[in-house]
Order: sequence, then C-alpha cells, then structure tokens
Amino acid sequence: MVGMKAVFQTTLAQRVDLMGRGVHGGAPARVSLLPAETNTGIVFAQAGSNGGPRRMIAASSKAVRNTDFATVIGDGKGAICSTVEHLLAAIMGLGVDNVIIEVDGGEVPIFDGSAAPFVEAINKAGIDTQSAPRRYLKILKPIRVEAGRAMGELLPYDAGFRIEIEIDFPHALIGRQRYAATLTRNVFERELSRARTFGFMSDVAKLWSAGYALGASLDNTICIAEDRILNPAGLRYTDEFVRHKALDAVGDLALAGLPILGRYHSVCGGHKLNAQVVAALEADRSAWTVVEPKRRKVRGHADLPTQVAIPAYGADRS
Ligand SMILES: [Zn+2]
Repeated sequence: MVGMKAVFQTTLAQRVDLMGRGVHGGAPARVSLLPAETNTGIVFAQAGSNGGPRRMIAASSKAVRNTDFATVIGDGKGAICSTVEHLLAAIMGLGVDNVIIEVDGGEVPIFDGSAAPFVEAINKAGIDTQSAPRRYLKILKPIRVEAGRAMGELLPYDAGFRIEIEIDFPHALIGRQRYAATLTRNVFERELSRARTFGFMSDVAKLWSAGYALGASLDNTICIAEDRILNPAGLRYTDEFVRHKALDAVGDLALAGLPILGRYHSVCGGHKLNAQVVAALEADRSAWTVVEPKRRKVRGHADLPTQVAIPAYGADRS
C-alpha cells in the first residue's frame, strides 16, 4: 500500500456489492464500492431514491459525526453511515485511492468483525492502476493529542506509513500489548486484516440498553468473560486485541483524505482519539504537505520514485 513504491493512483477494477448485517442496528445492511476517477479519493454516497440526487460526503475528519462505539460518517444534515472503520481499513490497507462507497441502510455490514471479508471482496474484484500520480500527506512535524490516559501522535517518517499501537486493559486476558509495523499491503493482509473486534461480557447489557451492539454475536465479536474467551475457536492471533486496534487506526486515519507518509503512535486509543488526531492534523497547516512520487531516470536502473512537494490541493483541508 503506502510506501513510495506506489507511484500511481488506483481504483477498483469493478463494482463490489457487500451484503450482511449491521452490528449495532442488527438489521440487514448493504454497501457497494464503485470504481472512481482519479483524485476522487474516498467518498461516501447515500443511495438516492428513484435515481434522484444523492448526498456525497468525502472522507475527512469533518465527516465524523460520532465515535462512541464505531465511526459514524455524516454531515450537517445528519448521519449516513455507521461502522465504516473496518471497510476503510481494507481500502487503505490494500492501497485503493479512489472509491465511492454507496450506502443503503445506514450501516456497513459487520461480517466477522474484521477487515478480512472486505479484503477478500476487493481482491476478487481487482485493483486497477490509474494514470495520475498518487499523492501522499507527508507529516512535517509532530501532532499530539492527549485525553486522560489516552495519547495519539503523528510524527514524521519518510519510509512509508508506520503504526505503533499500545493498549493496556485491566483484564488478565489482555493486559498490555504492543504492535508496531511499517505497513505494506502484505503486512496488512497477513498481520491485521483478520483481527476481530472485541467486547466484554460485563459491557453487553449496557450496550444493549443504549441500543448498540444489537447484532453482536460470537460470529462477529471476540467476547471476553471474567476468566475466559467465550468464542469456541479462541483467538486468531495471540495478540488479536492490539492488532484489531491497529486495524481500526488504519481505517480511522483514512479520514485524513490521503495515504499518510508518517508514523502514528497511540497509547490506550480508540476511534475518538484517532479522529481527534486527524482533526488536529488538518487544523495545523504547517504540520503537513502533499507530496507525490515522481519517476526519475537513473542510468542503468529502473525508474526510482522520489518525492516532490506539490501545492495543497483542496480548500477544505487548509
Ligand atoms: Zn474495530
């Protein structure tokens, strides 16, 4: 995915339809991923009735309406889609730049609680290389957000997109876990995409009475009781919890609008903190610049990508 090897933008080779159930509403949920022109970025579109006009919302921190239990996308007229983070993680993790996410029903299907079903569907559809150079959001100086015991920071890092995620849960089956990697498509698919969301039995009643997690089950959530994991098949990775937090961070940072050239470090973070860090980044125009790899002829070698700074391109970002 990210990394200066990727010189050109990409989109899906064909439309992808995803049908399942929403984890929070528990109702049938459908989203479609549509191929998009260069420089579209990731855009959410509400399916219009009778072919009428559709609401379009570009992925950005300003499009985040709620982060209590999932990342909810919307605008001044209200929410249009909940639980976008695992789908966004798959899109970013596979290095897809341009896609329209058409929403019909208000929630992205939860499937097995990981990004693997989205990865599989996108890989099956295929990813096309486009003619425009890929653009990256390059971090120039540290951006840091602290909230209680949670901390998230974006730091300069030239070798791609690196994540360093730490969690510390007061539960014997989780405790302190740390995951760090410079992401490539392979690393994402192998190490993060299969990590499932998790929840504590002790929180379930609270969530249900608030109208959340109505569709949660052992098929889509790792359920942690006081002394054991309730899922009969156990964990997919011994540190599946921190890997899922890393997956969530990859998805939430997609709201920066472009793939990031930088390092994201978080401690005890979640969707809310991730969104706050992206908002803080967008608010500080001196903390980032947009670069695109440029092909450079080196005698006797293949083309090597280098970085060139290009002017900021969108009024909504500055
Ligand atoms: Zn998640």
